[in-house]
Amino acid sequence: MKHYLGSREISVEFSEKEQERAKTRPLLSRDTSNAKLAKTFDLHGQDWSTWILYLAPAEVAVDGVNLCPASTDKCRKDCLFWQGRARMFKEVNEARIRKTKLLLTDPIAFYGKLHREIQAAIKTAKRKGKRVAFRLDGTSDIGLGVYFARVYPDAQFYDYTKTARAMAFARGSLPSNYHVTFSRSDTNSGIAARVLRAGGNVALVVDSNVKVDFNNPRLLDGDKHDARFLDGRSPEGLIVVLKAKGSLKGQGTDAGFCLNQSGFESFLASTENISKVS
Ligand code: SF4
Repeated sequence: MKHYLGSREISVEFSEKEQERAKTRPLLSRDTSNAKLAKTFDLHGQDWSTWILYLAPAEVAVDGVNLCPASTDKCRKDCLFWQGRARMFKEVNEARIRKTKLLLTDPIAFYGKLHREIQAAIKTAKRKGKRVAFRLDGTSDIGLGVYFARVYPDAQFYDYTKTARAMAFARGSLPSNYHVTFSRSDTNSGIAARVLRAGGNVALVVDSNVKVDFNNPRLLDGDKHDARFLDGRSPEGLIVVLKAKGSLKGQGTDAGFCLNQSGFESFLASTENISKVS
């Protein structure tokens, strides 16, 4: 069967059996970390129910169809997609690839299913007196959350991105219930600095042994929770520091995706200078 992305014909290997599985299994995964962390960390006294959609990043699902337009070789290699449970169970990524193929081959079924799951999550959260948030680009970067934020104004949507969406957010041109944090990589430090200068927030990864002074009001500990929409804003932008995990540990360099101590300090210094001269 022929499949099209806009007017472009794409070739997707997707058996009827696999398609049926994709249609019957949930798209969204429950993220229990924020609910647990709400009890131990300051999440503004709110109990959040958080859901994540994990698709297959970049061109992992289908050659020539890139779900991470601003990705780099390095981030594709170290992507969250390959970490955690996916390292132990091949079924985890097989399911993410199926979901991606469903989006590409039958978007009507995909979007219908996603709407139904979001509506059900909102209803359940309301019944339990919780607030609900969705991260729809868990391991992709296509901006689904912007569209759904417009459709469901009472729910919170949030993402990390390497695209210009972070600049649009910093300038206030996205829905107020959509929050996006720019994700620094080995090739976009200059853009990260511009996002900060515009008042956006930037997440970066440092090696596990890097010393970080969280008394600095520009720095936030990104490992305390994933509820980035609660990070707040500052005219100089905020930097969300994430410590390297899994295979990234020990990989810190001066300018790579994962920074070592001197790389981290240089990045901070360069963004301070930009803030001062602008
Ligand atoms: S852009 Fe993000 S989701 Fe995409 S490959 Fe890179 S790290 Fe993974």
